[in-house]
Amino acid sequence: MKKYILSLDAGTTSSRAILFDQRGTQLGLSQYEFTQIFPKEGWVEHDPIEIWNTQLKAAKDVLESCNVKAEQLDSIGITNQRETTLIWDRKTGEPVFNAIVWQDRRTAEICEEITAKGMAGVFTEKTGLVVDAYFSATKIKWILDQDPSLRSRAKNGSLAFGTVDSWLIWNLTGGASHVTDATNASRTMIYNIHDGQWDEALLEILDIPQSMLPRVTNSSEIIGTTLPALLGSPVKIAGIAGDQQAALFGQLCTQPGDVKNTYGTGCFCIMNTGTKAVVSQNKMLTTIAWQLNGAVTYAIEGSVFIAGALIQWLRDQLQIIDAAADIEALAESVSDNGGVTFVPALSGLGAPYWDPHATGAIMGITRGTQKGHIARAALEAIALRSRDIIVEMQKDAGVSFKSLKVDGGASNNNLLMQIQADMINADVIRPKITETTALGAAFLAGLATGYWSSIDDLKNLWQEDQRFIPSTSDQVQKTISQWENKIKKVLTN
Ligand code: ADP
Repeated sequence: MKKYILSLDAGTTSSRAILFDQRGTQLGLSQYEFTQIFPKEGWVEHDPIEIWNTQLKAAKDVLESCNVKAEQLDSIGITNQRETTLIWDRKTGEPVFNAIVWQDRRTAEICEEITAKGMAGVFTEKTGLVVDAYFSATKIKWILDQDPSLRSRAKNGSLAFGTVDSWLIWNLTGGASHVTDATNASRTMIYNIHDGQWDEALLEILDIPQSMLPRVTNSSEIIGTTLPALLGSPVKIAGIAGDQQAALFGQLCTQPGDVKNTYGTGCFCIMNTGTKAVVSQNKMLTTIAWQLNGAVTYAIEGSVFIAGALIQWLRDQLQIIDAAADIEALAESVSDNGGVTFVPALSGLGAPYWDPHATGAIMGITRGTQKGHIARAALEAIALRSRDIIVEMQKDAGVSFKSLKVDGGASNNNLLMQIQADMINADVIRPKITETTALGAAFLAGLATGYWSSIDDLKNLWQEDQRFIPSTSDQVQKTISQWENKIKKVLTN
């Protein structure tokens, strides 16, 4: 009896394994944190062996705690921190360097050179990405540049590159499968998202040998089987997607115009644009949402750097709350923002302002200003920064949308969600299962094996927890125009 799907959620700070049943119910979760290595200012690494060991341990643990045997698993779905770059030896399976994490800035100079040589446009045109150290390509180049023997080993086919999904699958299959899916490939900056190929011209610019790259698969496809010894019996690996794309799928944002926003430390907003690869006028990223049976669905992605982090700042620096969740009651202690606007530019301002030098500000303070007003203005700031992105995405994509699906830690804040609905004048919908990333990977796996028959079948499983209906009032309009006016005051460009 193949009853369950195991999702492996390989995050930036921890490896998680989550078990789902056929109704999409989460039965158990196991999680292990792993070491964050900071060798220098701006450098961030992970130990690939630790990623693998913690992931395998989490998988075994969740099966044991739920009393489920590997033979009861239909399949495994994998979702992962994107862009993080690993290179290993095909024969020994040994990494040649630590994983260079997406946050790592060491290759900023390589990116500046690309831009100075006038080649940034070609990368953007072909990959949908803005040339940046964030993506895998320059990280691969950097590792190969460390030692000439590495590049020659890469050229003769001895080395393999992969993002974390590839690395886990390589290990799960005992080196039998060297693959990645189209969503992860679309974050490398060397994958042509229009023709679905590793791009020879871009590889040449960066001197990356094609022979080290994984085969690109659908996001939902049986791509291999785990070594029997690992979990007790072999299990099919049938779903792969980068974390934000998996969350978009887990939220069943399957129609063009569907959007999900994740409220964590920052906000990650991603909109399904269907078969159209929309080029943003605001440096938002064009990316692959998923590839099913060879057909690509595209998405446009924008993020806000500071969201939940603003609440952390109020908790840890200003100490006006003890716990993040207390912000809601404090903000509810007043009926409006009392004229206060909080511009949350704590680490510059991203899309659509793109001003790294902007700093934050709390404006409109009077003698009557209370803590509650600042708390409310902070929640409004999170919603308004998300609004900034959503408005631009709508313009870019040329579609309007009716609702926003939400997840992430701060989406549990009902007041924030109501403010968000008011600010975008659209329904905000929070699902019952907020582990949408893991759920998306499970959905992709189960679709490939026939465990679930279709996307429509999945729609019957997705359950709404709460819907926030916009209330339009003069106050909302006032808050928006106050915001548009005040944010200009912190811009340096
Ligand atoms: P991440 O995955 O980025 O670590 P999470 O999804 O776990 O983030 O969410 C944690 C973030 O959400 C923290 O920045 C925290 O300040 C914020 N947060 C958590 N609960 C609330 C709440 N009830 N209201 C507002 N912010 C919250």
